[in-house]
Amino acid sequence: SSIQLQDLVQLGKIGSGNSGTVIKALHVPDSKIVAKKVIPVENNNHLVVNQLVRELTIMKSVHPHENIVSFYGAYYTQSGSNEIVILMEYMNCGSLDKILSVYGRYCQRRQNLREEPWFNGLVISKISYAVLNGLSYLYEKYKIIHRDIKPSNVLINSRGQVKICDFGVSKKLINSIADTFVGTSTYMSPERIQGNVYSTKGDVWSLGLMIIELVTGEFPLGGRNDTANGILDLLQRIVNEPSPRLPSGGGYNFSREMIDFVNRCCVKDETERSSINELLCHDFIGKYRTKDKEFRHWCKKVKFCLKEDKQIRREDNERAKLEKK
Ligand code: ADP
Ligand code: MG
Repeated sequence: SSIQLQDLVQLGKIGSGNSGTVIKALHVPDSKIVAKKVIPVENNNHLVVNQLVRELTIMKSVHPHENIVSFYGAYYTQSGSNEIVILMEYMNCGSLDKILSVYGRYCQRRQNLREEPWFNGLVISKISYAVLNGLSYLYEKYKIIHRDIKPSNVLINSRGQVKICDFGVSKKLINSIADTFVGTSTYMSPERIQGNVYSTKGDVWSLGLMIIELVTGEFPLGGRNDTANGILDLLQRIVNEPSPRLPSGGGYNFSREMIDFVNRCCVKDETERSSINELLCHDFIGKYRTKDKEFRHWCKKVKFCLKEDKQIRREDNERAKLEKK
């Protein structure tokens, strides 16, 4: 049962990334909300596009899993502008990068209120478990390696589910279409940058970096890079500098289990780095195993704050418009 593109009503833009734009849409026949990713393509590379759509369609054979965003279909439309459309499950709390930026604004508004950080041990443990469990499923069952674990590809919903998306698609194809390298690839492991064989352990490295970013609010290894030179610098830093670590001191108080967990992810030598299955058995995961209800509660709170943030930003925008007049 494939979704027909003409049965979709667009409800608004969710966000955009390197390759395209993600839109919230309603599938009218069964009143279901879906996420629609639109990737514009040049007129001239139909071969590449057809191969990409074929590759994407393989995703449809991945059976539903609690930690994988469901895939509904990939399309190539040639009416008007050419674009690839990918339909997938809509996750109503959005991605971790979005939640992180909303958290930043939330803290700014409540400066005098001392609050628990959003990304505490419980939350990081639950997110890590979900990512590892999803990665393990993709690899054990389909031999798919994700290759692009980063905060914007880990999505959450208010039912307390954490799911990974945007996996398996060969980056070479995507890049040949999007033609952008700048601003990407920062979560790549040292062995991948050096061109060695890429295994599932590359995703473990990315998970480690992602955790450090979530708890500190900053990308480790020296900030975002928006110029081509910046990217080359960063790639060199990943290979040459010591492994990134969770900060010690500075008001942070991470548990022994969490520090050890991150240390095992962020090992530069791939052979020394823990595997997905080893990490699934780590004490940091076990410690919070029975805390599903608490995590679900956290997701609901995030949903509430996202709504509040949207409202405040809308009001700010309107005020700014009025002041201009
Ligand atoms: P990137 O992952 O590089 O940011 P994408 O085009 O994959 O770029 O996604 C853009 C944004 O859309 C993401 O950052 C995320 O916040 C949001 N998004 C993507 N897929 C979904 C989805 N299935 N449900 C809800 N939000 C999504
Ligand atoms: Mg993405």
